[in-house]
Amino acid sequence: MTRKEFVKLCGILGVSMPFQTIITSCSSSDNSPNSNNGSPESVIIIGAGPAGMAAGHLLAQQGINFQILEASNTYGGRIKHNTSFSDFPISMGGEWIHVANSILPEIVNDSSVNITTQTQGYDNSDLVQYWDGSMLSNTTVEASGIGGDLKFIGSSWLGFFEAYLLPSVQNNIIYNKPVTAIDYTSDQAVVTTSGGQTYTADRIIITVPVKILQNGNITFTPALPSGKQQAINEVVVWSGFKAFFKFSSKFYGAYLALSDSETAEGQRIYYDAAYAQNTSDNILGLFSVGLQAEQYQNLTDDAQRDYILNELDTIFGNNLASNSYIDHVVQNWSAEPYAQAAYVRDQEDWQLVRTLGESVNDKLYFAGDAYTTGDDWSSVHTAARSARRAVNAIIGE
Ligand SMILES: Cc1cc2nc3c(=O)[nH]c(=O)nc-3n(C[C@H](O)[C@H](O)[C@H](O)COP(=O)(O)OP(=O)(O)OC[C@H]3O[C@@H](n4cnc5c(N)ncnc54)[C@H](O)[C@@H]3O)c2cc1C
Repeated sequence: MTRKEFVKLCGILGVSMPFQTIITSCSSSDNSPNSNNGSPESVIIIGAGPAGMAAGHLLAQQGINFQILEASNTYGGRIKHNTSFSDFPISMGGEWIHVANSILPEIVNDSSVNITTQTQGYDNSDLVQYWDGSMLSNTTVEASGIGGDLKFIGSSWLGFFEAYLLPSVQNNIIYNKPVTAIDYTSDQAVVTTSGGQTYTADRIIITVPVKILQNGNITFTPALPSGKQQAINEVVVWSGFKAFFKFSSKFYGAYLALSDSETAEGQRIYYDAAYAQNTSDNILGLFSVGLQAEQYQNLTDDAQRDYILNELDTIFGNNLASNSYIDHVVQNWSAEPYAQAAYVRDQEDWQLVRTLGESVNDKLYFAGDAYTTGDDWSSVHTAARSARRAVNAIIGE
């Protein structure tokens, strides 16, 4: 069980999570099929993030016609990476693999494909530091229980999707098509984009981030069932901010946890973003979601940089951060028009999440990190598994 899965389990069991918890790894699956409707002739997928690409890839394997309508000018959604800041890809959103790496062949779903993507877990003896607000103490990955996740080596979630899924979907993606309305009154659902174009299909797979639905960016005719709409309105979607700082010296360990690293309102952690990479760059990452992200999001350019350097100088002393600062890059997910936030909070009521994942009238299917069976959510693997569930339901498996 990874740190993230453990937080959700605590929510389901109604217990709170201590920072110092030793946990071991396991994986779960939410790919159970639901209804049997027979194979459709055409499917429209809304969104070309991990869920949209995974759904298209599975439909391609089944020989079913599909189109992906993507609002932005590229694929990837919240797993976008930056390849210019360092000599390895920097994940600006989804970064770690939160389950066993057997998830990679599971997503590819073709045993004849040789997957060469490399991943690496943390070593038990890796340095984890803890800042309680006045003192910095050292522990290890093993003692902190923080290290159940895997990193990509010289790649990223996006790199993996580009290598193994994009080839089967790239010709079916239509870019710059923000969907604004879905009419599923008739046998053929009609999807309208912001430019007024319409597209019809037998089934629709909706993979847009739940914040897009919460903010009413897509209207449904007829309106979504009240329970579904209520779940959309009620889930708490955390805002999200990441930053990467390049330094001339490495004055930090694998992780730096803070007293507010793991709270009901959000999370934040500094970490060695170059961990396991073949690079001489020293890159410290900052991951923050929920309330903890807002202190950074509320600042702009230089003030943001100075705030983070000052925070690190306070923690490590001797102006270590500001004296070795070279460059930085930031990503504010709440300001992205087609994400508008990070993801549904880890402690969300699993039954609300399950409702988000339910299909409507055997016509609308929901896939994506927020639309699962409620046993796990808010990660790339849950997005991919929910895509499989939607496709299984559509083809009647
Ligand atoms: C800061 C941060 C850190 C994260 N860290 C991790 C991590 O370490 N590990 C992990 O597994 N996950 C992580 N995640 C979560 C992970 O990125 C998501 O779970 C994953 O990207 C969800 O995939 P998706 O396809 O459901 O949605 P998205 O990736 O958001 O893709 C949805 C797509 O829909 C498109 N779209 C939106 N609106 C419309 C519209 N109206 N019409 C057409 N298209 C539209 C978007 O442009 C996008 O391409 C992180 C996320 C954030 C923000």
